[in-house]
Amino acid sequence: MNQSNTKFQGRRVEHQVIGQATRDGDGVKLTRVLTQAHQRRLDPFLMLDNFGSDDPNDYGGGFPDHPHRGFETITYMIAGRMRHKDSAGNEGLLQNGGVQWMTAGRGVVHSEMPEQEEGVMEGFQLWLNLPSHQKMCQPAYQDIQSEKIPEFSLPSGIKLRVIAGETHGTAGAVNRPAELFPTQTLYLDIHFDQAARFQQPLLPDHNAFLYVYRGSAKVVSEHQETSIGIHRMAILQNEGTGVEIAASAGTKLLLIAGKPLNEPIAQYGPFVMNTREELIQAVDDFRAGLYNSSQS
Ligand code: FE
Repeated sequence: MNQSNTKFQGRRVEHQVIGQATRDGDGVKLTRVLTQAHQRRLDPFLMLDNFGSDDPNDYGGGFPDHPHRGFETITYMIAGRMRHKDSAGNEGLLQNGGVQWMTAGRGVVHSEMPEQEEGVMEGFQLWLNLPSHQKMCQPAYQDIQSEKIPEFSLPSGIKLRVIAGETHGTAGAVNRPAELFPTQTLYLDIHFDQAARFQQPLLPDHNAFLYVYRGSAKVVSEHQETSIGIHRMAILQNEGTGVEIAASAGTKLLLIAGKPLNEPIAQYGPFVMNTREELIQAVDDFRAGLYNSSQS
């Protein structure tokens, strides 16, 4: 093999997406970035919402009791707090900078109530699919407060917060072995404290995207640079050995990648299964009050 075969080759931007303003829960204003239209292309990711406001009227009702089955919700607060409670008795207050990783598995009913801190509230919720053999697993909550999220700076002046996966030899807060975590999800929050370039290797079969939430960035490949403005999601092509991102001081973005499950996706609101029959069962079980029972 000659040297050039192992050289870093940056992925290109396949498509840019502008988030859709919408409301969910009890009237919470949010921007839905990754929608149902991208679920196949960005398998195993099902949804990404960016919520945030300095006006409490934009989210006053929060997300009162609602069910989930068949996937995981990953909530990352960058300002303010999220109070959550489920009918199995779990309760927690996710602080600014922390992540809640909830595995809905065979079913939870919970409430999520955003709270301002110093007048602001901002965060993200990512929905990550579970493989068919894990969809009916025991539900689990994990609150990972900010100080438990591995964080470090590169000499270039880039600060990395490693929520899941691994980068530059640092394992993320969630880094499960491949047999338990077939999507091998990478979830990075990248802050450019000064103008810099960043390279992240990515396996070619892993689907990947980035979302810019402060400033703007450029995705750099051999013959192409693509600018990504604020509040844009860039879906990356799969060809290449990784992604190279250049940005000026103050830019902040999420880089998310994972191995696709390549299974049928059947979704009805907060239920995500493989078949229509399983969806009907999910709704029937919810109506029968079978979520959140403590028996396995
Ligand atoms: Fe929820």
